Amino acid sequence: MANINEKELNELRERLLTYRKQLQQEIHDELIKEGSNSAISLAGKVHDAQEESLSDMLTEINLAMLSQHQRELLNLGRAIKRMDEGKYGTCIDCGAPIANARLQAYPTAVRCINCQAKHESRGQST
Ligand SMILES: [Zn+2]
Repeated sequence: MANINEKELNELRERLLTYRKQLQQEIHDELIKEGSNSAISLAGKVHDAQEESLSDMLTEINLAMLSQHQRELLNLGRAIKRMDEGKYGTCIDCGAPIANARLQAYPTAVRCINCQAKHESRGQST
């Protein structure tokens, strides 16, 4: 953890914890909304085919958003865990310190910019 001092680490940790709380709240709200949408579409049994496909589409959009938030939540948890273990700020692939500016911009980054680029070129986003 050569690149980041304790004060910066604590600040980032605060940001992650706050963000995690917001995200959990959002996911909670989305689940409630998702639940009520399904309930409404089930109870209503939309007869118009066009309307039905529209409501399917909306449900899919909600689910896509939800899983993205859940993925973010997972990344947040991972970053906080790495802070606890004292491994935060080092690349999980090559072990090099991750640039401070990168951590400030992407506090959940687990790879240095070079390894992230390689990783993404293999077709994976996280
Ligand atoms: Zn690396």
